[in-house]
Amino acid sequence: MTVIRFFSGEQIPVEMHKTKILQKLNLIPIDKRLEAITKAGYNTFLLSNSDVFLDMLTDSGTNAMSDRQLAAMMIADDSYAGSETFTRLKKVCQKIFDMEYFIPAHQGRACEHLLAQILVRPGQLVPMNYHFTTTKAHIVSMGGIVVELIHEEALNPESSFPFKGNMDVDALHELLSDRGPEQIAFVRMEAGTNLIGGQPFSLANLKNVYHVCREFGVPLVLDASLLADNLYFIKTREPGCKELTVAEIVREISRHTDVIYFSARKLGCARGGGICTTDQDLNARLSELLPLYEGFLTYGGMSVREMEALAVGLEETLDEDMISQGPMFIAYMVEELERQGVPVVTPAGGLGCHLDAMRFLDHVPQRQYPAGALAAALYIVSGVRGMERGTLSEQRNLDGTEPLANMELLRLALPRRVFTLSQVKYVIDRVVWLYHHRHLIGGLEFVEEPETLRFFLGRLAPIGDWPDKLAEAYAQELAVSHL
Ligand SMILES: *Cc1c(COP(=O)(O)O)cnc(C)c1O
Repeated sequence: MTVIRFFSGEQIPVEMHKTKILQKLNLIPIDKRLEAITKAGYNTFLLSNSDVFLDMLTDSGTNAMSDRQLAAMMIADDSYAGSETFTRLKKVCQKIFDMEYFIPAHQGRACEHLLAQILVRPGQLVPMNYHFTTTKAHIVSMGGIVVELIHEEALNPESSFPFKGNMDVDALHELLSDRGPEQIAFVRMEAGTNLIGGQPFSLANLKNVYHVCREFGVPLVLDASLLADNLYFIKTREPGCKELTVAEIVREISRHTDVIYFSARKLGCARGGGICTTDQDLNARLSELLPLYEGFLTYGGMSVREMEALAVGLEETLDEDMISQGPMFIAYMVEELERQGVPVVTPAGGLGCHLDAMRFLDHVPQRQYPAGALAAALYIVSGVRGMERGTLSEQRNLDGTEPLANMELLRLALPRRVFTLSQVKYVIDRVVWLYHHRHLIGGLEFVEEPETLRFFLGRLAPIGDWPDKLAEAYAQELAVSHL
């Protein structure tokens, strides 16, 4: 991995790639941003991208592709059945993960849907390091119950523990011996644990989880959507792993897992998804469901061009310079904000920088969605779009009550290889301004609340007229002028 040292002693992440294609950006004035967020029901998902300056909503399907990926798209072999492209992609998956079977799917949640259909029976438990929104929705829709066996540091936003995505292995052992394997659908580990701030698990922890699963004969399923970041952290943070190549770390991971699935909107910087396994019976059952929900066995809902790009993207995941840009930029952002006193989740993880809205807006009650309010406020003062990852992203209980999220985070995703350091500095500047004016920000309430995954399409309104006051204060101090 290339780490450049500066004569000045500064720590600046340097990109090991250059820009070949660009997209022009738009920064609309603050009064237009206020209009846009009002029209969007104070939900950043409902903003139109033409009203967004820097889109830090997600890394899903927004990572920059390499020239090799784009070139590969041109040789895609489009055929309904038996395409050469599928054979190439399958071979890459077999080589990297060392698993015989590969089932293509249109994206990560499609893999979760297929696996939940086959593996989860009503009343069964699915122990995991932490849930992800779509994962939980699919397990619950099959009557399963998610049990989170988190590490004691996982929900501490001010931590220096390097592997907050670790599972509590003793708790897993206790649960499996109490309930017995029949009551467990599968055990799930999520790489780069998304909802707690892109936090990794260690290779040692995964191995321990796997040994417990073996002892009880329960399958271990790995959600590898954010594996690239997790690989970087294992390589740079875990004792004994510095000498391993990334390819060797992946091999170790797959040797200690039964099923690996991923969203190729993240892993491999393309669009699509897939399930890898060595289990012949599971493969046969997945193959039966595939044509019903996704498409024929040789494309599973993906376009062949994306499949070619994915094959190259997966190989590039083994290149340390390719996977280090995201975590290095995120670390820069997290450390700079921390230095300026802004509450962020530490240590820096993958995926993005996470502002801790519980501390940032400690005057806004959790039932008024502080992370959602912070997302709206940041958009108003910067044109930057982040994503609420807190109570809004939770689903109501069956009895209609609203569970409060463990953490209220505003995630500012850094899609890989997309933004420059000056853009990251702009975001830091606006977040710091917002922090100094945080008392101006108030809460939100639902106007329209959908039943499932309400954060995608729900509409909210500010409680009081705080957005106008915030915009006024901003316009006086910092409004951008167009010469
Ligand atoms: C994004 C994501 C998914 C879902 O993938 P999609 O391609 O968006 O459907 C599942 N698990 C994790 C950890 C993710 O980050």
